[in-house]
Amino acid sequence: MTLLDRALEKSENLFSDGEFITKLSSLVSLVTDSKNSMSNDDLTNYYSKGLLGILVELGIQTKIIDNPIKNCPPFLIGTRIESPKLKTILLYGHGDTVPLQQGQWNDGICPNELKIIGEKIYGRGVADNKGQHLINLLALRSILKTRKKLGFNLKVIFEMGEEIGSPGLFELCEQHKDYLKSDVLIASDGPRVAIDVPTLFLGSRGAINFELEVKYREGAHHSGNWGGVLRDPGVRLSHALSVIADKNGKILIENWKPTSLTAEVRDRLKLLPSTISETLEIDENWGEPKLSANEKLFGWNSFSILALGSGDINIPVNAIQPSANALCQLRFVVGTDADKIISSLRDHLDRHGFEDIKIITDNAINFEATRTNLNNIWLEKVEGILEEFHGDKIHVIPNLAGSLPNNCFTDVLNVPTIWIPHSYKECSQHAPNEHLPIKLLRDALLLMTNLYWYLGDND
Ligand SMILES: [Zn+2]
Repeated sequence: MTLLDRALEKSENLFSDGEFITKLSSLVSLVTDSKNSMSNDDLTNYYSKGLLGILVELGIQTKIIDNPIKNCPPFLIGTRIESPKLKTILLYGHGDTVPLQQGQWNDGICPNELKIIGEKIYGRGVADNKGQHLINLLALRSILKTRKKLGFNLKVIFEMGEEIGSPGLFELCEQHKDYLKSDVLIASDGPRVAIDVPTLFLGSRGAINFELEVKYREGAHHSGNWGGVLRDPGVRLSHALSVIADKNGKILIENWKPTSLTAEVRDRLKLLPSTISETLEIDENWGEPKLSANEKLFGWNSFSILALGSGDINIPVNAIQPSANALCQLRFVVGTDADKIISSLRDHLDRHGFEDIKIITDNAINFEATRTNLNNIWLEKVEGILEEFHGDKIHVIPNLAGSLPNNCFTDVLNVPTIWIPHSYKECSQHAPNEHLPIKLLRDALLLMTNLYWYLGDND
């Protein structure tokens, strides 16, 4: 039996001897809902009571850093330096979760008590993100116990505010840039493209939210007395929206289209399964014409109306409303001039005669778009190792369709980012019944054990 076999066996045994479940159960039992936490102490308990034990086993020197943004939860950062000559891998994870949604889970499952039903493990945070970073930490431990070294330096960042937009993460990376200096980020979050095929993604789409408002006057006016002579904000806003995207969802603002859907990106996207979901039927003719579903999702921008209103739909009255509002969002990939999204919208509305539509924005991008280059040497290396272990092609997505605070790593720490998700689309993250299949967790643990093994220097 080779040393690698022994490391893999160690990881495998974590399931047969129940240690994985015990560890995950203790992480899930710590309630870490960042939206409703009463104090940061509740959240930082996750560091001391949840993670510290295994971080110590890994020989990581840790420190808790106050959030640079006042009243926001602290960070845990740490390092394990084996030799300045070795490469350094940065690991990231978030210990906070969305609200528990107690009482809404099946079979009376209590979200902070891990429960195994059939082949699946249920609990808040199992998929997002406690289970995912636990896999990576335990895979590292199997290597360390077997090889007595990792063969690379390891740095870690954990936060407790990802679900509320990662406040302070950007500033943390700026202030501790030297301490966190690494060669590559390898982290896990989000779902695989297909449950039984390892997935890599290299960045994330950005997002910007803004509001459109038409407000003509104070108070509503009787439509019998005034209809026909007063401008109707609902009618005006509908027309304004219709020049932003056409009736089939195609974006009509030239500057909102990305320049990054190159032949190379398209070739990569062609290798993904064409079926986006087994459970939800997608609308073939929606969005940018002539693009495949994967190109629309991972290689293009999308405009959405998150909420729309004028008057009270539940208590309508015969009156011309004074105002109408639409909360809107643009999700965008790299190759979009993000600084000009709002000014391009302003110009476009003005050109179409909608000077009366106000854009309410704090001009802040909610998430920046990021994407590590497809020619990156780390991608080549990691992809090769995963493929070899999987025995077939894996799925590589240039970026996640959703958003992550990935620019802290790509733009501040200047590292290529490789995300290896250990979840699947049907995991119900952010909803009741969050779960992962035991088989997926086990496969992912072995995958990561093998990956860390080959990334390490074996001399
Ligand atoms: Zn989440």
